[in-house]
Amino acid sequence: MTRKPSLASLSINAGAPVAKNGNAFRHGPEFASTFHLSGDVDPEVYQYGRFGQPTWTSLETGLAELEGGDTVIFPSGMSAASAILTSLVKPGDTILLPSDGYAPVRYYTEHYLVKFGVKLKTIATREIDSFDFHGITVALLETPSNPMLDTFDIRKAANKIHQQGGILAIDNTTLTFLGQLPLALGADISMSADTKAVNGHSDVVFGHVSTLDKTISDKIRNWRKFSGNIPGPMETWLVHRSLSTLDVRLQRMCDTAILLADALEKHEKVLSIRFPGLTSDPSHAIAKQQQQLFGFIISFELESKEAADKFLAACNLVYVATSFGGVHSIAERRARWGTDQIPEGVIRFSVGCERHEDLINDVIAALDSL
Ligand SMILES: *Cc1c(COP(=O)(O)O)cnc(C)c1O
Repeated sequence: MTRKPSLASLSINAGAPVAKNGNAFRHGPEFASTFHLSGDVDPEVYQYGRFGQPTWTSLETGLAELEGGDTVIFPSGMSAASAILTSLVKPGDTILLPSDGYAPVRYYTEHYLVKFGVKLKTIATREIDSFDFHGITVALLETPSNPMLDTFDIRKAANKIHQQGGILAIDNTTLTFLGQLPLALGADISMSADTKAVNGHSDVVFGHVSTLDKTISDKIRNWRKFSGNIPGPMETWLVHRSLSTLDVRLQRMCDTAILLADALEKHEKVLSIRFPGLTSDPSHAIAKQQQQLFGFIISFELESKEAADKFLAACNLVYVATSFGGVHSIAERRARWGTDQIPEGVIRFSVGCERHEDLINDVIAALDSL
């Protein structure tokens, strides 16, 4: 019996043609706003660049294979989230968002949807396992949450919200489909900011939405078509190219994260640490049960704002920036944005692809200097 290859191996060529003699492994990006269209409108052919085009189709085909559901790509993670939040609700419906998740998603809902009669409810991620989902139309939740890495049981949440007729969408940005498969766990939608690990080179802003529900994917695709939130062919092609190396990058990042978290947990200057891979972490049990990887983000607390800033300045291999999931290790004092309810000294650390011994030496030396 032949075993089906893992998603990790499939990701190397997902959505790309199988090369025949004389053919290139990959097509380049196709730059086109309009396509030849004579006679009656044929829904099976490309017509106009806002409706669909070949470079989109290649990436969407690849992501669909990996996510396990029909996929719609977007020019940013926020446009993917907006598509979900805007196209699946009507006045009087209630959206559930994490109070400790990606803050711009809450901002968008509060400032652009609530005024049209949509209701917003928020919940701390660690309370989702005991929440009954009564009256919720669409829940867009994160596990592990960003930045504090709390988790909840996706299957349990999906069962509960389905009993109420609601839709469960998972923002899977912190793990990607190689780290967790929301659709296989029963969620209706898997969403990702591909700006982060999926593209992974800190040079493209991008996103996607995947679902097994045809009604949902039609609504999401239509929202893209009529709102005009469309990705460019060059960005689409760059993300598709990055997909081939996602597994090696992610594996390196996640392996190093386990080693770095161990070293941080033991360091006297670290007041507390959150990383789902640590057996002592409150997220560990659920992470072990539903994730394929523990992830590459570590959040840890230093004594003060000053200590955190001093630590960041003392690191040589770590880039101080917002965002995560790139080949460079990136860290920031997360409370500087004022959008997360976290202590001033919290560092959100995204482990990159450096050699683990170099990175750990650098981080520990910076902590020792405090
Ligand atoms: C970055 C991020 C987003 C938004 O993605 P953009 O590409 O910046 O628009 C959404 N959700 C999470 C969890 C993110 O980290």
